[in-house]
Amino acid sequence: MGEFDAIIIGGGACGLMCAVQAGYIGKRVLILERNEKVGEKILISGGGRCNYTNLYASEINFISENEHFCLSAFAQYSVEDTIQFFEAFGIYGEEKTLGQLFPVSNKAKDIVQVFENACKELGQEILCQALVTDILRHESGEFEVQYELKGIFQSIRSKKVVIAENACKELGQEILCQALVTDILRHESGEFEVQYELKGIFQSIRSKKVVIACGGLPIKKMGASDFGLKVAKSFGLRVTEVAPALVPLTITGKDEEWYASLSGNSMFCRVSNDYISFEENILFTHWGLSGPAILQISSYWRPGEKIELDLSPHESIVEYLLNEKQINGKRLLVHLLAEKFPRKFADALGKYIPIQKNLASLTKEDLENIDSLIHHFSVRPAGDKGYDKAEVMRGGVATEELSSKTLEAKKVPGLFFGGECVDVTGWLGGFNFQWAWSSGFVIAQNL
Ligand SMILES: Cc1cc2nc3c(=O)[nH]c(=O)nc-3n(C[C@H](O)[C@H](O)[C@H](O)COP(=O)(O)OP(=O)(O)OC[C@H]3O[C@@H](n4cnc5c(N)ncnc54)[C@H](O)[C@@H]3O)c2cc1C
Repeated sequence: MGEFDAIIIGGGACGLMCAVQAGYIGKRVLILERNEKVGEKILISGGGRCNYTNLYASEINFISENEHFCLSAFAQYSVEDTIQFFEAFGIYGEEKTLGQLFPVSNKAKDIVQVFENACKELGQEILCQALVTDILRHESGEFEVQYELKGIFQSIRSKKVVIAENACKELGQEILCQALVTDILRHESGEFEVQYELKGIFQSIRSKKVVIACGGLPIKKMGASDFGLKVAKSFGLRVTEVAPALVPLTITGKDEEWYASLSGNSMFCRVSNDYISFEENILFTHWGLSGPAILQISSYWRPGEKIELDLSPHESIVEYLLNEKQINGKRLLVHLLAEKFPRKFADALGKYIPIQKNLASLTKEDLENIDSLIHHFSVRPAGDKGYDKAEVMRGGVATEELSSKTLEAKKVPGLFFGGECVDVTGWLGGFNFQWAWSSGFVIAQNL
C-alpha cells in the first residue's frame, strides 16, 4: 500500500474532494470507505441529480453555533471554484431554482465519476469495505519544551516558569530585580512523533495525519454512523447537540386524519417560526408535512414548538374575496378557494370555515376566521421523521475546537474534521455539498 501523507476516513463528498485537492499539491492519501463504493450519498442526492452547489451561498445559509466559522473555508474555496472544478471535467451546471445548480446531464453519477477518475489519475488510493472502528494516538521520541523569557535583560530559557514572587534568599535562590518580563515564548525541540493508528476490518494502519470525513447520522443503511462524533469525543473535543435536519415533520393525534386525507397535495406558502421564514412549496403526506419549505424550517424547529403557514403570502385572502364578491356575490366560498388552492384542500377547509356559504353571506366574523386560517395556519408537529428521512444532521464537532483556517483540531494536531460531521449545517439547495467541497479543499492544503 505504500506511504501516505494522510488517511481520509470516508469516501463521501468531503473526503473525495480532499483526496483530489491533496493530489493536486503532490500529497498522497488513502481513503478508507466502509461502503462497497464511494460517493453513495452523492448518487442519491437531489433525487439522483445532485444539486452540487448554490450560486448564492453565503454564511446566512448555514446553521452553526458560530455562523462565521464557514467563511474562511468559503474564502479559500468558493462557489465559483466549485463550478470551475467541475467544468474542468466537462460538468456544466444548470440553475433549476433559487440558485440551485445541477449537472446539465441531470446525473449525480457524473459527479462521482469525476472523483473516481481524478483519484485514479492522481494515484490516490481508495479502499472500500474498510470500516474504521477505532483511532488510537501514539507518541514516541524525546520532546523538549523550553520557555524563553524576554525583557529588559538578556533573554533566559527555562523548562518551567513560575508566575509568582519567590524570594528564597536562605536557599540561595537568585533574584534579579528591575527585571521587567515582557514576553514568554514557547520553544519545542527534539524528535517527537505522533502517529494515529486506525483499527477496523483491515490490518491496522498508521498515519501522522487523519481526516475525519465520515459524514453525519442520516440514512444508516447507506453507511451513516456517529463515528466522527465518537472520535471527536474520544480526543476530548466538544460535540454540540445533534438532531435530524432537512427532515419531514409528523402530525399525530386528532389532526392526523385531516392531514393524511390531503396526502399528495402540494402548494406554495410561507412557513415561519420565531426565528426564520421560507417561501417554497409544502407537501401533505400520510404522516404529516414535507416539501422544501417544511424541510427548510425543520432545521430551525425544536420539539413542542409550533410553525405557522401563510397559504397566500402575496395576496390578502379577504381582499381577494371582497373583490370577487363585487363581481358575483352568489359564488360559493369553496369555489373561490379551489381557484387558489388544490380542490381537495379547499374542501378540507370545510372543517374550519363555512365553505358552502356564498360570498355575499359571509359575515365579518367569517372573514376574520378565513383571514386567520389562511394567513396564520398554525401547525404543532408531533415530531420529525428521524435520521432515516433526514437529508442532513444538525450540529456536530464544535467549531471552537477547530481552526477555521485549516480545520485541524486545535488540541489534537494532525486530526482534521470536514463535511457534515462538523457543526456547520446548510439549508436545502446545494449548500451542504458546497460546505463539503470547501472543507475538503481546506484540509487538503494543510496535510
Ligand atoms: C437523500 C439526500 C439527498 C441529498 N441531496 C443533497 C443535494 O442535492 N445537495 C446538497 O448540497 N446536499 C444534499 N444532501 C446532503 C449531502 O449529501 C451531505 O451533506 C454530504 O454528502 C456530506 O458530505 P460528507 O462527505 O461530509 O459525508 P458523506 O457524503 O455522508 O460521506 C461520508 C462517508 O463516510 C463513510 N463512513 C462513515 N463512517 C465510516 C467509518 N467508520 N469507516 C469508513 N467509512 C465511513 C460513509 O459510508 C460515507 O460514504 C442530501 C442528503 C440526503 C440524505
